[in-house]
Amino acid sequence: MSSSIATILERTVAGRRLDAGDALRLLEEAPLAELAGAADAVTRRFHPEPWRTYNIDRNINYTNVCASGCRFCAFSCSPGDPAGYVLERETLFEKIQETIALGGNQILLQGGMHPDLPLEWYEDLLRAIRDAFPEINIHGFSPTEIHHLGQLSGKSVREILQRLREAGLGSLPGGGAEILVDRVRQEVSPRKASADQWLDVCRQWHILGGRGSATMMFGHVESLPERIEHLDRLRQLQDETGGFTAFIPWTFQPEHTGLANLPKVGAFGYLRMLALARLFLDNIPNLQASWVTQGLRVGQLALRFGANDMGSLMIEENVVAAAGTTFRATEAQLRHTIQQAGYSPRRRNVFYEILE
Ligand code: SF4
Repeated sequence: MSSSIATILERTVAGRRLDAGDALRLLEEAPLAELAGAADAVTRRFHPEPWRTYNIDRNINYTNVCASGCRFCAFSCSPGDPAGYVLERETLFEKIQETIALGGNQILLQGGMHPDLPLEWYEDLLRAIRDAFPEINIHGFSPTEIHHLGQLSGKSVREILQRLREAGLGSLPGGGAEILVDRVRQEVSPRKASADQWLDVCRQWHILGGRGSATMMFGHVESLPERIEHLDRLRQLQDETGGFTAFIPWTFQPEHTGLANLPKVGAFGYLRMLALARLFLDNIPNLQASWVTQGLRVGQLALRFGANDMGSLMIEENVVAAAGTTFRATEAQLRHTIQQAGYSPRRRNVFYEILE
């Protein structure tokens, strides 16, 4: 006889690992308030402290030229498109200077799969940033970009990561994960790294001693079991390496993309998925609220549905904005939002160390 929803939640809150079958039942059937209560209890077990965190960084997209052509992307330009750019070093440095002036300590450096920029270009860029701004952490290059660099250069993922690390790469963002199931990837981004390839870049980075985040973009062509499979792949890798600092789920933004006919996931669907992720990922300490896609009010609720972090202030954000979503906030608004949720706000760095 299968367990009741209440029993599954009770056991999970008590620390028993949730299996895929029970996770699916919770996602499909659990009442929202009960799911939230359980996720909040688990969050408080991970984070009994009276504060919740955020950081200040800037998302710098060094190029929008991309040969991948993902159906969900409204940001990239195909090679040869006159709207394509590669940022001049001077412009990039100005952006970093502005970030520092606003109290930022990190840049998120990501771009498309540029067909021509060689590995040495990335190494030179990292060294130049590190020399000019030694205090800035470079959170850079999603696993799909690293995989692409491997294909371009013919070098192993391990060697590429080693070289980029030596040149100044500080941490690895978890972009390009979308849903880590190849059926889904074939449908929305067939030219991108497979699920195994994405995970292997993270694995190699973690083995080198690096840390980084894991992400999930949901609410497009995936099924609910495929969402659980995504979480399961991340949990397995985290058991193996322990290298993920955080999990960041967000909802697909369909406007201006090749999937514009799909409906947007609203607050209800987002919060359910967030709470389920908190219950399932018993080995990843931090979960971020996605207020950039859901707005600050839902972001505030997220702090009671499993998130313990408001993510980044994001002085600049281009990718979600290109898909029609433009939620922005000042640092004061972000702090106020955390206070309104009943916590004191604290700034952190990429490793979730408190800075104030
Ligand atoms: S999502 Fe990334 S890889 Fe896909 S087309 Fe856009 S920039 Fe390229």
